[in-house]
Amino acid sequence: MAQKIDAHHHFWKYTPEGYGWIVDRMSRLRHDFLPADLEKEIGSAGIDGVVTVQARQSLIETAWLLLLAEKSTFVRGVVGWAPIAEERFPADLEVLRENKKLKGLRHVIQDEPDESYMIRADFNRGIAALKNSGLAYDILIYEKHLSTATRFVDRHPNQIFVLDHMGKPRIREGILEPWRNNLSELARRENVYCKLSGLVTEADWKAGSGAELRAYVEIALAAFGPQRMMFGSDWPVCLLATTYADWFATVSQLISALSAAEKDQIFGGTAIEVYRLHN
Ligand SMILES: [Zn+2]
Repeated sequence: MAQKIDAHHHFWKYTPEGYGWIVDRMSRLRHDFLPADLEKEIGSAGIDGVVTVQARQSLIETAWLLLLAEKSTFVRGVVGWAPIAEERFPADLEVLRENKKLKGLRHVIQDEPDESYMIRADFNRGIAALKNSGLAYDILIYEKHLSTATRFVDRHPNQIFVLDHMGKPRIREGILEPWRNNLSELARRENVYCKLSGLVTEADWKAGSGAELRAYVEIALAAFGPQRMMFGSDWPVCLLATTYADWFATVSQLISALSAAEKDQIFGGTAIEVYRLHN
């Protein structure tokens, strides 16, 4: 049977200082979320392995996530953080690359005050250094950044990019454009992949049904195709709006019209390919 992979989730030991982005209305997230907690959740959904993604911008967190991955059988890989825009980055990368569980890097672009951060020379010098590392780069942005993201990826045609959370469309407001247009343009780049994740927290947190997500998922599927899309839970952040099992069921429902092979691709095949999880 095809392996089922959750391509996007987080772990943390909660401290107010370390996780300032967890604001008051997210109090559900002010707890520890560790491998033993996730193991129960993925078991109920029939998921075999996960990719753990950074939640703090620190090399200490990256090292901690890699340690958790080494000790766990189901954590197949880590998308960590490193100081990509800094001069020291090539040296950090040399060290990080030695750990085979590191599969990608991510910077929290969405919170950078400079809306052109992605096309800055220092950041692009760092991304260029990823060449031949085999590491993917996860793009975490809001939909307003999508056209800049296209300019960014065009500078690195041989780099594998993963767009997190379908570029965070404005589901709560029911707005499709300009997200649809900008996403479709970005998707024309064959080296860009897309995570079917994080959408419930961009929708009305209490809505509880997948209906309002359908139009967005259909647009992303038409743009990227199942070959370049992958399922992610965004657990524990998803708990603000749903449960692990319910999100898995919602995605299964949203892609129910696809063929068995296409579903396998979204629920594992793409992540295994992009993050080289077989190594
Ligand atoms: Zn996330």
